[in-house]
Amino acid sequence: MSLLNAINANGENVDLSDEVFNGFKMNFRGDLIQPTDDDYEERRSLWNGMIDKKPCLIAKCSGTADVISAVKFARKHDLLTTVRGGGHHVAGKATCDNGMVIDLSSMNSVHVDPEKSTALVQGGATLGDVDHETSPFGLTTPLGVVSETGVAGLTMHGGYGWQTRKHGLSLDNVISAEVVTAKGELLRTSAEENPDLFWAIRGGGGSFGIVTSFEFQLYPMDPQAWLLLTIYPLSKAKEGFELMRDYFPDAPEELGVIGLIWSAPDEDFIPDEYKGEPVFIFLGSYTGSVDEGEKVLKPFREMGTPVADVSEPMPFEFVQKAIDADFPDGRNYYWKSAYVSELNDDLIDLMIKHGSDRPSPLTSIDVWALGGKVNRVDSDSTAFYQRNAPFMINYESNWDEPEANDENVEWTRKAYNEIIEVVDVGSYMNFPGFGEEGKDFFSKSFGPNYERLKEIKKKYDPDNFFQGFVSLE
Ligand SMILES: Cc1cc2nc3c(=O)[nH]c(=O)nc-3n(C[C@H](O)[C@H](O)[C@H](O)COP(=O)(O)OP(=O)(O)OC[C@H]3O[C@@H](n4cnc5c(N)ncnc54)[C@H](O)[C@@H]3O)c2cc1C
Repeated sequence: MSLLNAINANGENVDLSDEVFNGFKMNFRGDLIQPTDDDYEERRSLWNGMIDKKPCLIAKCSGTADVISAVKFARKHDLLTTVRGGGHHVAGKATCDNGMVIDLSSMNSVHVDPEKSTALVQGGATLGDVDHETSPFGLTTPLGVVSETGVAGLTMHGGYGWQTRKHGLSLDNVISAEVVTAKGELLRTSAEENPDLFWAIRGGGGSFGIVTSFEFQLYPMDPQAWLLLTIYPLSKAKEGFELMRDYFPDAPEELGVIGLIWSAPDEDFIPDEYKGEPVFIFLGSYTGSVDEGEKVLKPFREMGTPVADVSEPMPFEFVQKAIDADFPDGRNYYWKSAYVSELNDDLIDLMIKHGSDRPSPLTSIDVWALGGKVNRVDSDSTAFYQRNAPFMINYESNWDEPEANDENVEWTRKAYNEIIEVVDVGSYMNFPGFGEEGKDFFSKSFGPNYERLKEIKKKYDPDNFFQGFVSLE
């Protein structure tokens, strides 16, 4: 069957005959899914239910050869193309209307070399795939805090998780990567091979090529880690944020904490009178020794009488899955972040005010404690620029009703704008809203690295075939 309604990047029709399409099929081992196929609806959807796009073809690749075939086919016939890793980026750029999605989700193998303490991770793997393969060897690498997130998007735009303060961003731990370029060539990138491309994909996102595999540095890991999950009444929010502000400059790097305002979930461990009520939560992990963790977590668990405290040591793989269920596929999401150079009283007061007027009880206002090893890497040594902010504020707007889309997005933008009036040093490209502000938004977040990214883009993808999240035009 030929491809119906295919378009190029300018929105013009692309005419593809049966013969041309069948030729592509012969060189493709994975699945080619079209709108008439039974699994099309399932395969076209992304994590964010707000994104409702209908590609003309989903090329679900079985390996690097398929990725190369798909890129060559798209280039030859000038087909609008997007790239999907885990499908979890909030802006939903992994898909498009009437173009082809190069879908890497079947390419999720992870191979651990325990002797070298490295892992080869394919470009469609999730965090859970990596944790599952590394943990039996007592090894780990810093990734995010929800196991279903894609490694590729997470790593190519940054990568914050419980071990970031100790071991750096996910992208700081990439030793090498294999990249299919806009010419359909496979290039190996590392500090020695194609170093400019290696620099760009560590922070600049998917605008330069398709990463088919990453080689990650691994670190030894104790079998048990602490999950911190302590819930307080909202009246404790100010004290909680102040504790983070005062504690973190000297905190052990094994500690990762997010302080957040949310509505208490309907869980057995929440007393009935608090269910659905606004609360302040410390969520985190301590990945040093369990005994030491008990002491380190005390200030966060003993800030008065908690509503509930379900903190406990457990295998790190379980810590990584502790909040998976809170972010189901298909819910509506709009997440937007601001790095802050200090967590001052004005910001704390604003967040508490916003916490009381959230249009959806599912929405949270999160403060991530940063610092540690990320700060010790120079801002120009990878494309990822913002390394010195001690905290990041993220407005995670989550709601079920599609008719409430506008209200929730507008509320988040307004709240975000009020925050960046107080302090504005850029946004995290994995929590960027839709990046709808355009060029200024990107140039602020990348600082002087933005111009270099544009130069590298011209070298590797002058026709802007890869329209990643970061706009470089
Ligand atoms: C529930 C949830 C929890 C999260 N938790 C964290 C967290 O703890 N820490 C954190 O830092 N971030 C976190 N994030 C943000 C997350 O890192 C980003 O959403 C990330 O971009 C997701 O990657 P993905 O591969 O799933 O995305 P996708 O939507 O598949 O891809 C995003 C973009 O990346 C590019 N891309 C994807 N795969 C490839 C590839 N193989 N080669 C080249 N380009 C590619 C494409 O341009 C694509 O448009 C979370 C997100 C969600 C939804």
